[in-house]
Amino acid sequence: MAHLSLVGINKIYPNGFHAVHDFNLEIDRGEFIVFVGPSGCGKSTTLRMIAGLENISKGDFFINGKRANEMGPRERGVAMVFQSYALYPQMTVYDNLAFGLTLQGVDEDVIDEKVQRAAKILGLTDYLDRMPRALSGGQRQRVAVGRAIIRKVEVFLMDEPLSNLDAKQRVTMRSEITQIHRETGATTIYVTHDQTEAMTMADRIVVMKDGYIQQIGTPRELYFDPVNVFVAGFIGEPPMNFLKDVVKDGTLTFGEVVFDLKEKLGNDAAKYEGKELVFGFRPEGIVLGEREKAYRVPASVELTEMLGDNTNVYVDIADKKAILKVDPHDTPEIDSDIVFSIPFENVYLFDGETERRI
Ligand code: ATP
Repeated sequence: MAHLSLVGINKIYPNGFHAVHDFNLEIDRGEFIVFVGPSGCGKSTTLRMIAGLENISKGDFFINGKRANEMGPRERGVAMVFQSYALYPQMTVYDNLAFGLTLQGVDEDVIDEKVQRAAKILGLTDYLDRMPRALSGGQRQRVAVGRAIIRKVEVFLMDEPLSNLDAKQRVTMRSEITQIHRETGATTIYVTHDQTEAMTMADRIVVMKDGYIQQIGTPRELYFDPVNVFVAGFIGEPPMNFLKDVVKDGTLTFGEVVFDLKEKLGNDAAKYEGKELVFGFRPEGIVLGEREKAYRVPASVELTEMLGDNTNVYVDIADKKAILKVDPHDTPEIDSDIVFSIPFENVYLFDGETERRI
């Protein structure tokens, strides 16, 4: 049985705004699920409905097969870490961690054992006597996570918990949270707008846009098998390149660049005559120079960004812009003309109207 089931969940706010549409998801015990999408797509609203902080307008939510729509937050056995982690400023790290358990009247020895254990997992043992103001942002964030994991909960909900940290701290905390998840085994739902966080942490990702689920899948599935233009463009950095054209004589044509659709679609190509298609390829899905079983693309180089492990090359293809990711040793000269190849299997085609993958 699924640990958590969301069946046809909708959220309509009192002002009439329909923030979440028909959300369906089954989550297994111990899974690490990430909700990802741009600002305002309904990630936090969905998480808050799971937490019991926001009522469900329509649909059913089940925990271990039991309908939980009307259960209060405590009854649901969930712990939540928010974007803004308010620690009690006048309490030490120890007391911040212990506070929830103290309120519940848990025995002091038991509290001490739990605090020490959480502190050990989070690397806070040396800071237990400190006040929050004497901690770095990353350490404070760890205390906030610690407060949630110290309670024995079955479900761990996190809403952009790393957004207040700098880039380096985010990378560290990312792996710490993954580690904590492994140790506690708690079912976890993690909300972020950062696709890198989603890709590195999730067992499965739910991509959302405008209150609708776009796709649910493993990081691999979303990267290699996106269902539409939105998912294809959202997962991957730099994003996938898109070129749009109407199919004429079985080809998409951009200046002197001609993509013969038969190469990619075989006899199916005929079906798309006169239709608008989106031709997608990832920056890393190309090879410089000529290749067999690939589309040949002449382009001019407008800008290069050497990033160390690779170079982003901004090119112009018949007045359309694209980004290529190349080995830094192969970085072309700015203003030079190059030829690159897109192996047929690295090409993604989408319906220009529905934006769905074909
Ligand atoms: P962010 O990453 O910016 O937090 P999000 O994906 O988490 O975005 P939500 O906070 O779930 O988005 O909000 C979804 C939509 O619902 C937004 O358009 C938001 O303006 C709207 N919304 C949120 N709370 C309310 C409310 N109390 N009343 C009306 N509309 C709301």
